[in-house]
Amino acid sequence: MGLEEQDRPRPVVPRVGARLSYGLHRVLAANPAYRRVAAWIEGRPRAYRWFTRTERAVKEHLYGCRMCGQCALPTTGYACPMTCPKQLRNGPCGGVSATGRCEVHPAMTCVWVTAIERAGNAGHAADLDLLQRPVDHREQGRSSWVNYWQGRDDELAVPIGARPPHRRELGLRPR
Ligand code: SF4
Repeated sequence: MGLEEQDRPRPVVPRVGARLSYGLHRVLAANPAYRRVAAWIEGRPRAYRWFTRTERAVKEHLYGCRMCGQCALPTTGYACPMTCPKQLRNGPCGGVSATGRCEVHPAMTCVWVTAIERAGNAGHAADLDLLQRPVDHREQGRSSWVNYWQGRDDELAVPIGARPPHRRELGLRPR
């Protein structure tokens, strides 16, 4: 069944600047303490539901997050690629206008134009050279913070040419 028109992805301009976002990321960077917290949350369904709802509210408001569960924000200048109507994770499609407008929503700036500008202005342009792993849609609706702290995003973006990681190495559920 297809999405209703109002639920379809539309380009979102983040409400918070890239530099502040990179700063927040340093505070929330994965470490053993956060990993223990994530494991504690994940082991308690009510806590997990509450935490995921909070994450959704915060990130939806700030970045237009669509809860893919595998957050690419730290490598895209904190512009969410899942708000691209085509949900492209590795750069823009060929339909971007000469003025940087989205092919599907011509009144809006392409998410990837926003990403390139924000990452470049914050000194993170090299992040955009990384290759993003395909989205695992079974993670839809799950907490990307928990997944990140649990180490499941360690190979979410890799240098082009790097050895593709095995699913088990990524902490992903086996197929
Ligand atoms: S979790 Fe996914 S949908 Fe949400 S902001 Fe990150 S990349 Fe976008």
